[in-house]
Amino acid sequence: MAQAMNATAAHILKGKSLSELEAFFESIGEPRYRAKQAFRRINKHLAVSLDEFTEFPLELRNRLRDLDALPELTMGKSDLDPSGTEKALFELPAERSGRDRAVEAVWIVSENRRTVCISSQAGCTLNCSFCATGVLEFKGNLETWQIVDQVYSLMRKRGERCTNVVFMGMGEPFHNYENVIRAARILHHPDGLNLGARHITISTAGVVPSIERFLANREPFNLAISLNHPDPVERSHIMDINKKHPLPELIEVVKRYTRELDTRITFEYVLIPGVNMGAENAKKLIKLTRNIRCKINLIPLNTNLHGWRRPTDEEVHEFQNLLLEANLPVFNRGSPGLSINGACGMLALKSAS
Ligand code: SAH
Repeated sequence: MAQAMNATAAHILKGKSLSELEAFFESIGEPRYRAKQAFRRINKHLAVSLDEFTEFPLELRNRLRDLDALPELTMGKSDLDPSGTEKALFELPAERSGRDRAVEAVWIVSENRRTVCISSQAGCTLNCSFCATGVLEFKGNLETWQIVDQVYSLMRKRGERCTNVVFMGMGEPFHNYENVIRAARILHHPDGLNLGARHITISTAGVVPSIERFLANREPFNLAISLNHPDPVERSHIMDINKKHPLPELIEVVKRYTRELDTRITFEYVLIPGVNMGAENAKKLIKLTRNIRCKINLIPLNTNLHGWRRPTDEEVHEFQNLLLEANLPVFNRGSPGLSINGACGMLALKSAS
């Protein structure tokens, strides 16, 4: 049951907030200051072994070892793209049902950025028609430690810090809301990686009640919406979630979000020739977003599900120009990791080699 997996076992230190660690150390009769020491060892120094907790007495380290307090994701295969972008597979401990579970994360290199794209669920329940993850069987939500550890593991492998984290890997982050927000807060924490809130982006296909919650809590992280179609009826043809949370509702909450938090939102728009491109759709997209503080990231389709194809560069430029002429801030996000199936929507696909 996905819900039960949200409750991280009491003895696991990774993925706990500072105050949860304080409560834990108190519960085992240790002073509260151990919490900050442990938090820094795990989330700043990326410790893989309790031996690295040098300020802890040996007896305490052994006690924690007996509890298996510092689990680690097992990195399976990884694929490196010539650009330096790398996709890694992580094997998760099997559920009680015994099913194997795996997720993927991608380390994306671009000029001065090192972005880690991480997964929040094993599989996904949304079934967007263009996305390969939807083809997989859904195998549950990740726990908080399993989310942050994708970042830590890739940083250790690459031997450098990341500058950005995006929740754009497998799964719908807002269907695992608590663990995703907990993970973002840990990554943002000054005693952890201390990533700026504006360097952490959470992407949702449009889970309206979770966006409401994100807004009510005034979360400081970037929010991205996978818009993908500007027509309220046709959007349902490619995204089932539009039947549950229709476009007008989504746009209404997005408008409130940008107004009340005085911030900008990112719209992602996967370009599918014959489905959501062309002058008519550009016109609708312009009308829809004109009064919203936003930027639009175009992502050329990376899969060939349903016989769809990737747009040519000319088609992409043509569509982009229609939006630019209306003064929309629109970017072609390209496809880092295409050769290793590490690009958007491809994370379920077989590794390249
Ligand atoms: N479920 C979340 C997180 C996944 S993000 C969400 O939908 O936002 C994945 C991003 O990749 C989304 O913006 C989606 O629109 C895009 N995407 C999915 N499949 C794609 C594909 N085949 N080609 C290009 N982009 C794709």
